[in-house]
Amino acid sequence: MTSDIAGVSLPDGERVPALGQGTWEMGENPARRAAEIDALRCGIELGMTLIDTAEMYGDGATESLLGEALAGLRDQVFLVSKVYPHNASRRGAIAACERSLKRLKTDRLDLYLLHWPGSVSLAETVEAFEALRDAGKIRHWGVSNFDTGDMEELVAMPGGEACATNQILYNVARRGPEFDLLPWMAGRKMPAMAYSPVDHARLPKRSPLDDIADARGVSVFQVALAWVLLRPGVCAIPKAGSVEHVRDNHRALQLRLQADELAALDTYFKPPRSKRALEML
Ligand code: NAP
Repeated sequence: MTSDIAGVSLPDGERVPALGQGTWEMGENPARRAAEIDALRCGIELGMTLIDTAEMYGDGATESLLGEALAGLRDQVFLVSKVYPHNASRRGAIAACERSLKRLKTDRLDLYLLHWPGSVSLAETVEAFEALRDAGKIRHWGVSNFDTGDMEELVAMPGGEACATNQILYNVARRGPEFDLLPWMAGRKMPAMAYSPVDHARLPKRSPLDDIADARGVSVFQVALAWVLLRPGVCAIPKAGSVEHVRDNHRALQLRLQADELAALDTYFKPPRSKRALEML
């Protein structure tokens, strides 16, 4: 993997790129398929080799598209998928993982996440993840949409301390995790994977993001991504459905936000001063 993208360390020291790619809503529209595959492959070429997907996306269609996009490139990528909570039983998670591997045309996932906390006992899910790891079907496992209390419960159970990451909604407009979840994770050397880092393209219509973008001659998306990329121990997985958007996002790595710009963002998008329940998309 040769790239100019800084890495973020997993608890075992393995590095993943701080800027990766999301895939939600890809593979659902045949007319967009070629552009989406080109976008993913362009991102890989640029070093955005951390790629996130899920069995939920397009009911498997997104994993299938990604499998096609990864032809000949699988070994360059740190591949992440997620299991539905209702599939996350001891046997269910193993079967779901096998289905994902088939759609993704690979023999292993680099990271397998529980998509959100569900009603299946977490102990069973951890057992399934550990069995998948022992069998070489996954290399790491983790969770998603877990708030601080959920994380405390997880690490207290047998095997739970092997959790590699928590994928959460985090961006300049959704700063709740800064109050306790991100510090809790940093204390365990566990990186956060920021999903919807440009807020699913729903950032406020007029904010200091626009002022900074106008002054710097960059896009609002680049400013929002540059902000996330400044956070230690956080990687971002923006989804971009075109080569143009992927290149735009990659250029966020060159954007160094200055103290006055960060202060303007803090004034508008205030950091949390008390606990806010973890938001989810
Ligand atoms: P996002 O990455 O914040 O935003 C994606 C949207 O922004 C798309 O509409 C995309 O448009 C647009 N966009 C991205 N870069 C752009 C650019 N440079 N210029 C203009 N538009 C741009 O939102 P997300 O897809 O919700 O989150 C990212 C990934 O995180 C997902 O794809 C998924 O893999 C993961 N995720 C996980 C969870 C979870 O529960 N664990 C939840 C949500 C998301 P185009 O498609 O037209 O490029």
